[in-house]
Amino acid sequence: MARGAVSILVERCKSCGFCVEFCPSKVLALSSAFNSKGHHPPHVLNPEKCTGCDLCGRYCPDFAIHGYRTDNSAETTIKEMGKESDDAR
Ligand code: SF4
Ligand code: SF4
Repeated sequence: MARGAVSILVERCKSCGFCVEFCPSKVLALSSAFNSKGHHPPHVLNPEKCTGCDLCGRYCPDFAIHGYRTDNSAETTIKEMGKESDDAR
């Protein structure tokens, strides 16, 4: 099951390809479809591989994409940190 997902604002995209290039999980590809400015926005090729790391969002110069986590790993991490501090007592 995918741990993350992406949100894409198609009309902001200028098809630079950075999101595709820098996604460590090879989730994205540039679409053959055009937006209204004639650019090819990314689309999700392998949704099950997305970790929600948001590297795509960090590299996008136009704030056209962002990744987010869909699991509860942040909550788990907080719980684990709490457990560790309990253990240290
Ligand atoms: S959030 Fe991470 S894994 Fe998902 S598409 Fe963006 S860069 Fe790839
Ligand atoms: S990095 Fe942003 S502007 Fe570039 S292709 Fe991806 S979504 Fe489009």
